[in-house]
Amino acid sequence: MDATFQEIRKLLGFGCMRLPMKDAQVDLEEFKAMVDRFLEEGFNYFDTAHPYLKGLSELALRDALTSRYPRNAYLLADKLTEPYFEKEEDIRPFFEQQLQWCGVDYFDFYLMHAQMENNYAKFNRCHAYEIAQELKKEGKIRHVGLSFHDRAAMLDTILTDHPEVEFVQIQFNYMDVTNPAVDSRRVYETARKHGKPVIVMEPVKGGSLAVLPERARQVLDRLNRERGSEHSAASYAIRYAAGFEGICMVLSGMSSLQQMKDNLSFMKDFSPLDDEEKKALSEVVKVFHGLNAIPCTACRYCIEENHCPKEILIPDIFACLNSRTVFKNQNADFYYREVLTDHNGKAGDCIRCGGCERVCPQHLPIRQHLEAAAALFEEKK
Ligand code: SF4
Ligand code: SF4
Repeated sequence: MDATFQEIRKLLGFGCMRLPMKDAQVDLEEFKAMVDRFLEEGFNYFDTAHPYLKGLSELALRDALTSRYPRNAYLLADKLTEPYFEKEEDIRPFFEQQLQWCGVDYFDFYLMHAQMENNYAKFNRCHAYEIAQELKKEGKIRHVGLSFHDRAAMLDTILTDHPEVEFVQIQFNYMDVTNPAVDSRRVYETARKHGKPVIVMEPVKGGSLAVLPERARQVLDRLNRERGSEHSAASYAIRYAAGFEGICMVLSGMSSLQQMKDNLSFMKDFSPLDDEEKKALSEVVKVFHGLNAIPCTACRYCIEENHCPKEILIPDIFACLNSRTVFKNQNADFYYREVLTDHNGKAGDCIRCGGCERVCPQHLPIRQHLEAAAALFEEKK
């Protein structure tokens, strides 16, 4: 593998899309403590993008990381995201701003963000891939890759069109591997067929594999009891993803020092899952399938990259619906009524324009799920 990939010291990367927050700002003290701990333990990979926390993630990295540590102490990945350019001439100024926001002179890794059929033509039309190569020649990017949110055939097309792409970032976790809507097993195989190192995102599926429903949790509790261990649900998910050949990095979107300590504890000296652990995860998948939870990862693309005309808080409503139907939480009704829809649109206000579904990386039938939410939370009022 290339020298820069060898500079990745550990298999776990710090995904900076769900940083600790306080009063709508990043909690810098907590974040600094997390950055310090992460580096102290020998990890060095940080991943951000401009839409993460509406630009606050990049700024927080400047304040907590790049202004406090020498440049060779960390590897930083950022991304070119589709809503921030309309024409070729927009790309360089946006990129230069990203360098400034992050407080660096170059990015170690720069990705064409969230590539899918809906936006790929625009990246090509604006020569985004070519501009990234020019920036690489100028020393402002060390490695160009892409993050991917579509089906395997689309990835095959992109990597055939652009063999210069050096690595691929995909969503890959033990639930999505068997989810036909995400197609992640074939996406992984396609990246490997093209000889690309793979970075994994969403190994705990936006947190939903970290806090399991009761029956699924019992499966892992039993395994822990039999083995005298206390491994968290997240640890099984991250170790699952990290155990595949060609995976050079697994990103975890850590939101607290406590979560980070858990992640570091099992990724410092990584060992892949053994057969018994893999078997337990297959049982967990079966439990999940029986529960019919909506597999939303709370990435928020549907409301941040798309402007919902009714300002419906889609991922929050799905979390509320899951909470009510999967976890049987009766407070969900109150939360839906008094918090989620007090100042925002209700599920039943959806005009079915479809804008949200066009950008959803999980390809969820959002309108259909909103109908179910409206039926559950609104009809009996
Ligand atoms: S389909 Fe409904 S939820 Fe989606 S963007 Fe349109 S109005 Fe909003
Ligand atoms: S509905 Fe789709 S786009 Fe919206 S937060 Fe969930 S996974 Fe992301």
